Amino acid sequence: MILVIAEQQGGTLNKATWETVAAAQQAGGGPVKIAVLGATTAAVAADLASADVSEVIRAETPALEAYTQDAFVSALAALVAAEQPSDVFFPHTYQTRDFAPALAVRLGWALVTDCVGTRQADGRRLFVRPVFQGRLLADVACDGPALATFQIGAIRADSLKRGAGPAPIRSAAVSVDAAAIRQTPEAPFREAKQAVDLSQAERIVAVGRGIKEQEKIALAHQLASAIGAEIGASRPICDAGWLPMDRQIGSSGQTVAPKLYLALGISGAIQHLVGMKGARTIVAVNKDPEAPIFEVADYGVVGDLFDIIPAVIKELQG
Ligand SMILES: Cc1cc2nc3c(=O)[nH]c(=O)nc-3n(C[C@H](O)[C@H](O)[C@H](O)COP(=O)(O)OP(=O)(O)OC[C@H]3O[C@@H](n4cnc5c(N)ncnc54)[C@H](O)[C@@H]3O)c2cc1C
Repeated sequence: MILVIAEQQGGTLNKATWETVAAAQQAGGGPVKIAVLGATTAAVAADLASADVSEVIRAETPALEAYTQDAFVSALAALVAAEQPSDVFFPHTYQTRDFAPALAVRLGWALVTDCVGTRQADGRRLFVRPVFQGRLLADVACDGPALATFQIGAIRADSLKRGAGPAPIRSAAVSVDAAAIRQTPEAPFREAKQAVDLSQAERIVAVGRGIKEQEKIALAHQLASAIGAEIGASRPICDAGWLPMDRQIGSSGQTVAPKLYLALGISGAIQHLVGMKGARTIVAVNKDPEAPIFEVADYGVVGDLFDIIPAVIKELQG
């Protein structure tokens, strides 16, 4: 049985959870169960029960209201001991990155991070993960049960299988000793001032060095507001301070999987591609017909973005 740990905050499910459930369904290792942790989990559990899984487990206790590493590790270690899964899958989020290594140590299990999928060979499950900045994919085999985190956007959420009817929901007793929690929770990352979680965006307009000057980013903002998109950027734009670092997409920035990704004046270096190639539809505007971004683009426009984007905005504003 594979146990998927859903991520929720204040009753809102992180949509990367669906991708992880899809990864577990595709892993072919028997039944899939989903566990959701928190102080109140009823609504999220009901939502999760729409997936084709054998059970949704509510691990509810007041000590899990705000995220802390100690409470999560303690609750998950108890849950894993009780449920005895063969592997545990998580979305590769900031929160998972914080507690998963400690949980792996507590359980004495392997931890395979940033997976993009799984495959079977010689009766074993192999975890597929990028290495060398995404240039190669490695197959990782573990000599026992493993914790595995799945990269956001690597598995399409729309490949998730829904059940014919809702999956059964069960409450599991989890007791966390509040006195043993050493951390004091603060406001979550995505709510911090100016911080933006692009991984949840449905549409992104991303600018690269082809935009030439900071003032010209206004053009991308106009396009973004015309289509209700977030603004993203390649690394040089953020390095130059033209946009905040939380707008950077790529291997050293955020990994995104929007429905629509518009790349304006971005060449498509591998470090950028690993952060956005999971987008459902990629539209690239670049004046160089040989730019590598066109290898991943669904629609490519070869031309000067300063001619094309104003015309697109005009058309959209009709
Ligand atoms: C360890 C490491 C980590 C990195 N992490 C990241 C990362 O997280 N994210 C990231 O993005 N990069 C990252 N990089 C940098 C990456 O290698 C590239 O240098 C970077 O992505 C290039 O950005 P760019 O495409 O905006 O610029 P360029 O490569 O300079 O491309 C600009 C493009 O704009 C086009 N252009 C120019 N003028 C116009 C015009 N008027 N109209 C249309 N097109 C035009 C050009 O043809 C060109 O293709 C990393 C590099 C390293 C070494």
